Amino acid sequence: MTETACDCPFCKGVIELRPARLRLAECPRCGRPLAFARITQNKAFVASLLDLAKVAMLPLVGGVTAAFALAYIDPQAYAGWIAGALLAWGVIDVWDGTAGLRTHVDRDPSGVLMEAEAWWRSIAKTVFGVTSTLLGSAGLLVVG
Ligand SMILES: [Zn+2]
Repeated sequence: MTETACDCPFCKGVIELRPARLRLAECPRCGRPLAFARITQNKAFVASLLDLAKVAMLPLVGGVTAAFALAYIDPQAYAGWIAGALLAWGVIDVWDGTAGLRTHVDRDPSGVLMEAEAWWRSIAKTVFGVTSTLLGSAGLLVVG
């Protein structure tokens, strides 16, 4: 089998995909963790693990909030779930931010950012992530 080229979903850089059905790797350009699944000889599905983790968190937080609103869980359990979500989002942002600091590649809703623009955004993400991680940890300690 030959290598297949595909685009990184985070930075749009071209990645050479080695012949493997499923694997995890870091994008050589932006440093974000990616999951690859080969569909056919020349086609592959590529997903950013950080994006998948963020998307997976939304229904979880929504479900817990709905359960709290409908009085299925008590305020202490709700606070614990929210603290856990803050911790998880913080870890994701720190990972994202430090990858951006290392590679000088980041993105915002308008597109891919490079060099100084990406570096400043990565600093903001890292600071926000560390703050969120600390708040989540403190919340879990208080609730737990
Ligand atoms: Zn990339």
